[in-house]
Amino acid sequence: MILKQPKFSIYQKMLECADFRMKDLSKRSYVDGLLYNERSGLLGEESLLFPISKIDFPFVALCNLRLILKGVVFQMDTILLSPRFALIIEAKHYTGQVWFECDFDQVRQVRPGGEERIYDDPVLQVEEQKYLLELWLQLNGYENLPVETVVVMTNPNAQLKLQKPSELHKKKVITLPRLSKRFREISDYFDEEFYSMDQVRSLGESLLRADRPYCPNILERTKLSSDDFKRGVWCVNCKDFCMKRARLSWECDRCGLRDRNAHLPALKDYYLLFGEEISNSQLRWWLGLESSDVAGYLLKKLNLKKRGRGRSLKHLLGFDYYKDFDYMDARRHEKDRGY
Ligand SMILES: [Zn+2]
Repeated sequence: MILKQPKFSIYQKMLECADFRMKDLSKRSYVDGLLYNERSGLLGEESLLFPISKIDFPFVALCNLRLILKGVVFQMDTILLSPRFALIIEAKHYTGQVWFECDFDQVRQVRPGGEERIYDDPVLQVEEQKYLLELWLQLNGYENLPVETVVVMTNPNAQLKLQKPSELHKKKVITLPRLSKRFREISDYFDEEFYSMDQVRSLGESLLRADRPYCPNILERTKLSSDDFKRGVWCVNCKDFCMKRARLSWECDRCGLRDRNAHLPALKDYYLLFGEEISNSQLRWWLGLESSDVAGYLLKKLNLKKRGRGRSLKHLLGFDYYKDFDYMDARRHEKDRGY
């Protein structure tokens, strides 16, 4: 059973939104680099699902779990729990040549175009996660459960190269097609049951409750400012921010499309970029409205919680990061990048 599926992270949604609204294309490359990492992380997690679906022993799996233990943050790509063991799976979706430079505890990736990138050694990463997870399990009353680790190179286009043969790396790093076999090997090795399946499920639920998804201030994280973004309300026909307020609705200047709710995606974008607080004047600035009465009317219709009073009154956009952002799917499928 998969208790937490791989999904677009909050951070990825923030980056996609920043990318989508960026005015200056030359500033895009930095955000694009961060997005590339997030996207390949998700691809890596998703590619584990097929081997996981073939597992023939009872288990609970959770994808992309971020825990905080005594102030230390640690993130696991996928964790598999069974009555006999826990397995942390670190997925890496690198393409091109991947050199494990064990003397320097790093991985050097040479991408197909020749560009080089350096990463921390994933074997050390996953061993550190194991240490912290064992502590977490101890603190939560599951001290007996052995924790095993594996690093899976999920991209079939990766050529793995070991600079100097290291037994640990040969044992820990595998390619995706080998993962099913590794599941069987680990399952055969740990034959003692420490917990019932009910206890394993409740451990999975405890981990899910402890999950603290990464939710940064995206402007600070990317060094962008509010002036870097295009403001306004998007027309889905014209692929531009050209909807204007007219006759109690939103209307496109160019194609005539009318949509009463066209401002909602813009407000959700605001939430991703600037956070939950919005004032009447900030709403006007973001949507391109002149009338504070219209802004007040739109805010009132949203029935939001409020903070402060008078000129410092803020409305709190209470969107749900996982339920309210489906409109971004259409943007992802947008092939035309000419906006
Ligand atoms: Zn239009």
